[in-house]
Order: sequence, then C-alpha cells, then structure tokens
Amino acid sequence: MKNYRLSSGTKEHYTSLADLREAWGMKPIVKKTSDKEKLAKQQEKFVSKHICRACGQPMTFIHGNVMACKNLKCKGIEIKREDKEGNVITSYINSCEILNEKGAEIANNIFN
Ligand SMILES: [Zn+2]
Repeated sequence: MKNYRLSSGTKEHYTSLADLREAWGMKPIVKKTSDKEKLAKQQEKFVSKHICRACGQPMTFIHGNVMACKNLKCKGIEIKREDKEGNVITSYINSCEILNEKGAEIANNIFN
C-alpha cells in the first residue's frame, strides 16, 4: 500500500469513491455489471448443487420448485425392470428435482 501524504487538516483519505460514499453515510452506488457477475456466480453455484442424475449436467430451474435437466442429449433417468418372462425392460423418466422450500426461495430470487 502506498503512503499518501495528507494535506494539513486532513485526517483520512479514501482510495475509492465507494469508500468515500460509505464514510459519508451515503448509499452505495448500485453497479449493474458487478451485480450481474455476482448473480451469475450465485446461479452457477446453485445449479452446480443440482446435478442431473442421468447425465451429470447441471439442471435448469423451471419454475416454482422444479429443476429439470435440459440437456438435449440426456435421455433421462434409466429405469430397468423385468417383465413376467424375465425380459429386462429399460425405460427413461424425465430427470427433474423438486426443491425444498429454502432451495425454491433461492431459485426464485436468483433466476427471476
Ligand atoms: Zn440429464
């Protein structure tokens, strides 16, 4: 950190306007770009916790409390069962996840 020479009668100096505003009790300026970055990071972090069990890709928030896999290459979750003759039947169900209350609240905040 640089040493600033203060003029006589000056007690403090500020290295940014944001600090100055804060020191003077003014509301911080909302910077749209940095907010967007923050938001993008929050979204990234959120979806990284909701991974498709079928393809391993992050899921997409649909609405309300529903996350679903939007990967076009994803077939869904494979379900294998045997019929009466012992033939294995493979079927796929849509890969989705129901968020809990807190998760849904976060999702609605950061994706809407
Ligand atoms: Zn998937």
